[in-house]
Amino acid sequence: MSDLVGQDIGRYHIVEQLGRGGMATVYKAYDTRLEREVAFKVIRRESVGTEYAGQMLKRFEREAKVLAKLSHPNIVSIHDYGEYGGSSYLVMEYIKGGTLSARLTRKPIPYQEAAAILAPIARALEYAHKQKLIHRDVKPSNILIDEENRPMLSDFGIAKILETDDAAALTGTGVGIGTPEYMAPEQSLGKDVDHRVDIYALGVIFYELITGRKPFQAETPMAVVIKHINDPLPRPKNFVPTLPDEVEEVVFRAMAKQPQDRYQDMRQFAAQLEKLAHEAPTAFQRVTDADATVTRTASQFPIPQTSQPVSPVPPMRVNIPAAQTGAGTA
Ligand code: ADP
Ligand code: MG
Repeated sequence: MSDLVGQDIGRYHIVEQLGRGGMATVYKAYDTRLEREVAFKVIRRESVGTEYAGQMLKRFEREAKVLAKLSHPNIVSIHDYGEYGGSSYLVMEYIKGGTLSARLTRKPIPYQEAAAILAPIARALEYAHKQKLIHRDVKPSNILIDEENRPMLSDFGIAKILETDDAAALTGTGVGIGTPEYMAPEQSLGKDVDHRVDIYALGVIFYELITGRKPFQAETPMAVVIKHINDPLPRPKNFVPTLPDEVEEVVFRAMAKQPQDRYQDMRQFAAQLEKLAHEAPTAFQRVTDADATVTRTASQFPIPQTSQPVSPVPPMRVNIPAAQTGAGTA
């Protein structure tokens, strides 16, 4: 199971590994019947004890059914689901550009660009929420970038279906309930969660893009969680002094500790991101780097394409200059 490259599983020829998540490996495969590239996701059974294998298969099947209900231009679509060798696989649309996390540098990017990247994801989540679905694992490695630089939301592995749900049982098994760096306080505290955990997580990503750093950092996952719960949010302006107040306000709103202090629905957050995305760059955002020759605007998404495997290659060095180059112009 650990290496399927070169094998044929039914109509799918496995070409290469694209990435590994917590419980699954994703391969690029070729659908010999429809003659197209696809993403082939299969559970790594060795990644958890056998006592959880049944739970994992159930959860995986659930992910497939969740995806099948969704149809949105910024949500990865599902083609097929099947069983093979005692395990299961899920066949999805293949997204060529890799993940947003593989493209993160430690440098801030202009807030307009960050907003332009995330606004379509906010709309995708708004759509999912309308279908009574909470993603619960919104993070850069679950955002894929396609060839047209369109961001695509993926990995509904721990999505919660409101009302009809069996998710509590599934996540009670220790199979994983999210990612500490992006987890809302109420989610890590094991309280009832609703769509506002996705608003928080998207707020964390926005923070990370515009400041070049995660808001809460610590030695252990538990320490990160505790900071999300207790520590005041470090002001983005501490790291990028030129940020407009209105951008900071959006971050503070999305990342409020209490769900009732956040945007109350994703539509409001999406609208704010769309507004920011269309703001004209001001003088201090012009590129003054030695190796950059153009002025970036919000409408550009200057992340280069790659056809390289997403993981485990190290993060790409993306040529996005720091927003505050030409310091002192605030
Ligand atoms: P997990 O549930 O294990 O986190 P993901 O669905 O997030 O699994 O996939 C793990 C990795 O596989 C992603 O981070 C990405 O690198 C790659 N990947 C997943 N889906 C696709 C896809 N549709 N197209 C291309 N690469 C993908
Ligand atoms: Mg994932």
